[in-house]
Amino acid sequence: MKSYTGKVLWVDLTHGSWQEETLSDDVYKKYLGGIGLGAALLYRDMPAKADPLGPDNILGFMTGLLTGAGSFFTGRWMAVAKSPLTGTWGDSNCGGTLALAIKQCGYDGILFKGASDHPVYLYIDSKGPQLLDASLYWGKDAVETEDLLMEAHKGKKKPAVAAIGRSGERLSLISGIVNDRGRIAGRSGLGAVMGSKKLKAVVLAGSQRVGAHDPIKTKLLSMKCSRDVMLPLKLMPSRLVSMFGSIIGHLPMGMSQNGLLVAGIMRKWGSVGTLPASVGMGDTPFKNWAGTNRDIPGFNQKVDTDFILKTEKRKYHCRECPLGCGGIVSLEGKLSESHKLEYETAASFLTMLMSTDIELAYEMNELLNREGMDTISAGGCVAFAMECYEKGWITKEDTGGIELKWGSSEAIRAVLSQMVVREGFGALLTDGVKRAAEKLAPEAVDSAIHAGGQEIAYHDPRLDPGMGLHASVDPTPGRHTTGAQLYYDLYKLWTRMPGLKPAALFYPKESKFEADEYRMKGAAAVSNFTQFYNAMGMCYFGMLIGVDRVPVFEWANSVTGWDLKPEEYMEIGRRIQTLRQMFNIREGIDPRKINVSKRLLGVPPQTAGPNKGVSFDLEKLKRGYWNEIGWDSETGIPTTDTVAALDLSSLVKVGGVL
Ligand code: SF4
Repeated sequence: MKSYTGKVLWVDLTHGSWQEETLSDDVYKKYLGGIGLGAALLYRDMPAKADPLGPDNILGFMTGLLTGAGSFFTGRWMAVAKSPLTGTWGDSNCGGTLALAIKQCGYDGILFKGASDHPVYLYIDSKGPQLLDASLYWGKDAVETEDLLMEAHKGKKKPAVAAIGRSGERLSLISGIVNDRGRIAGRSGLGAVMGSKKLKAVVLAGSQRVGAHDPIKTKLLSMKCSRDVMLPLKLMPSRLVSMFGSIIGHLPMGMSQNGLLVAGIMRKWGSVGTLPASVGMGDTPFKNWAGTNRDIPGFNQKVDTDFILKTEKRKYHCRECPLGCGGIVSLEGKLSESHKLEYETAASFLTMLMSTDIELAYEMNELLNREGMDTISAGGCVAFAMECYEKGWITKEDTGGIELKWGSSEAIRAVLSQMVVREGFGALLTDGVKRAAEKLAPEAVDSAIHAGGQEIAYHDPRLDPGMGLHASVDPTPGRHTTGAQLYYDLYKLWTRMPGLKPAALFYPKESKFEADEYRMKGAAAVSNFTQFYNAMGMCYFGMLIGVDRVPVFEWANSVTGWDLKPEEYMEIGRRIQTLRQMFNIREGIDPRKINVSKRLLGVPPQTAGPNKGVSFDLEKLKRGYWNEIGWDSETGIPTTDTVAALDLSSLVKVGGVL
């Protein structure tokens, strides 16, 4: 038995029909699953220049090759489509129960074409797929929708539900897809794609068995991994993490970090546990990326991540995860149950907006999770509007009377409440900062912080230029999960791959900005590895522990029965990355024009804080990356030789085949 089903389901929403497609083993060996299989199918079947909010766009819910087969960190599913926010390849991934549920319905992916003329949802159980009327649920938030659909389909098998809230229905270009009562695939605006197809939800209640070629070996690898990744951090208070960050921020040298520390922080606090260290070292942006950690003195005392632990009612794990970074929190008298803040959401609603009101951040997190809006992009939009207000580019008349002052809880609540339903002043921000600047204050274009139209996640390229590089060169721009120099240090790919140099424990800070062979080989390797593990359905937090402790390549072989070397899996990763780039080229995207905003490159340089005086040449890094990965170093277009070497020539032809 293999870990993949060998089938995907195609649903035609225009005609209300569906059909299965059987895929050969060769297709899986070439593209794996998840993002890789999604890229191949979308490239083959989506017409070039499709309107992202039109019926020609294809929305896929993909599951990874390892999902359900007994290896760790495999609870992620991935939504793929052309992004209406950036016009590029779009993807977004999320944890929870949906990844396994897709496979238990007998599919490695469910893909939607066309558009319905009335609200529908897809229901699959042991009898097969059905498209059902969703008029009853249209206009409801995603959590309420999920609860109602669970009730409507309660039976032997508890279904997994993914739904859009009102943001997706109203086609907000920063809306996402929600599952497990508030976990969200938030990036790339894919909630709007679902809304444009009038697809309110997918409800999956299949119960097919998912296996592995060698389940005993897979389990033994998992048991060893479990022993290797545990670091007892229970007694460590958040102020020690904060101190660690400040020390790194003040060191005259750069310092590599250790994946075991990441694992310990994830287990104790979740991703928000990295906030104190990130603030201290200059990773977390303040005041729409124009400020520094000096702008809110004592931020780490005012916003104590140990407070979050006090509000935590219970922890939760994605399936097959030893870390369990998730948690359900409550605030007495204010919030009965909500997902714990993620690092990105905390930065988005606190430091970016110059706020220390953590209870408001909880409240806004819950609002956006329910309505299905990406917290990263939403915070970026409010920060942009606050800067415009401070500079006088917009006034109280423009905002409908909202006093958009930095740190104002009232203003943050008012604007976000309007944004999620596309009303009032908020409607001008609900499609992201790039479009908001064009409409609201064209003189403020440099204050609209994004790459290719997508708001940047909250890790400062002035500290780690790899964050700026990958946010600019990845075919889905603006993402923090696609690569960074920090990830090269943590993934430890050199322990498994010939030809990669180990990261030094200490290194000169200036060397981070060089486009030398070590840095560029590292950047390309990080990209390829990211595509590989996304295709396997794995969680990036788990990968940050490092491949010296997490046996990803061995798992890949034990669940499939293949015998591929790490470098062969990395080459598949390069194929997926190149195919995503080819998708963009076919859409008419010019890679030279996708760059993180100048402010993030230190133009102008900051005059205080941990990144004081830093500015760097992104162009040099982009050209070095393109050259290393096998794309034209001047244009960013994959070369004919690379396309041929990766066996993509037949697919990228008109009417191509997988
Ligand atoms: S680390 Fe967190 S997000 Fe990742 S698989 Fe585990 S519980 Fe899920």
